[in-house]
Amino acid sequence: MTLKAPAVELDLDNPPIDPPGGADLVMWSMARELFADHEADHDAPCPSCQMAWPCPGNLLARQGLTVACGGDNTMADYWRGLARIRAREADR
Ligand SMILES: [Zn+2]
Repeated sequence: MTLKAPAVELDLDNPPIDPPGGADLVMWSMARELFADHEADHDAPCPSCQMAWPCPGNLLARQGLTVACGGDNTMADYWRGLARIRAREADR
């Protein structure tokens, strides 16, 4: 469920590898990686977790991609917190 649309037009069925302009780079790369892990044909189970489309991993990734681009949803706090931790680790 999207509470606030992202600042840019996003094709969440086929998100680009490179982050759109203005996106949170750390969050985008984490969410895009998760998306790649849980990308499946819509009529087949997810090859990673074997769950039916759309699997929880794919849904979580879509939410992360949306938040990375300024959108807001029920998992926004999770993604912002995770991105902060990763960015801090990268600074060390
Ligand atoms: Zn999956």
